[in-house]
Amino acid sequence: MEIMWIMVLRLGHRLPRDERMTTHVCLTSRAFGASGAIYSGQKDGSLEESVGRIADNWGGEFQVEHEAKPIARIEKMKREGWAVVHLTMYGMPLPEKEAGIRKRGKVLVVVGAEKVPAEVYQLADFNVAVGSQPHSEIAALAITLDRLQGGRELERGFQSNFKGAAISLEPAERGKRIVKG
Ligand code: SAM
Repeated sequence: MEIMWIMVLRLGHRLPRDERMTTHVCLTSRAFGASGAIYSGQKDGSLEESVGRIADNWGGEFQVEHEAKPIARIEKMKREGWAVVHLTMYGMPLPEKEAGIRKRGKVLVVVGAEKVPAEVYQLADFNVAVGSQPHSEIAALAITLDRLQGGRELERGFQSNFKGAAISLEPAERGKRIVKG
């Protein structure tokens, strides 16, 4: 299975409507193997602080950044060799495209909030549906990250990627095994 380098771009963050959803886009991205998240739309300091606090406590190098010009950023990352994978219910079924996406190695996964501009559909290397029904950016993102990494991000050993954690968990059949430091 190819090693994937994944970044996530969340388009069109709206306050207060998207506060929780964009936070969960970032937390899901971090927990399931993305190196960082970029968001456009309204700048949201409390979003950046809350995700930063979790990254500080639970380890790893995950960063969230605001991008005022998302289209230009997508174009720049394409020039840098990133494969742009836009998640949309209108796209091609993920199972038909995931092998081709994995081959690219460096992937920018794009999810929307408000209506996604037509330009994004044109710029995307892959417009991919996680089922052809309307549901949620969180579910679409989680399933995509899992499929691209072959489930590696769910395995016990994956947790060692979160270096420098002040808090981590030991899997337990029952109860909670919290490891401090
Ligand atoms: N327009 C509504 C709003 O403003 O909240 C709905 C936004 S929709 C749930 C947000 C994002 O979820 C979409 O841009 C897309 O990235 C993702 N999404 C929803 N259903 C999907 C599907 N079946 N496949 C892939 N992505 C999906």
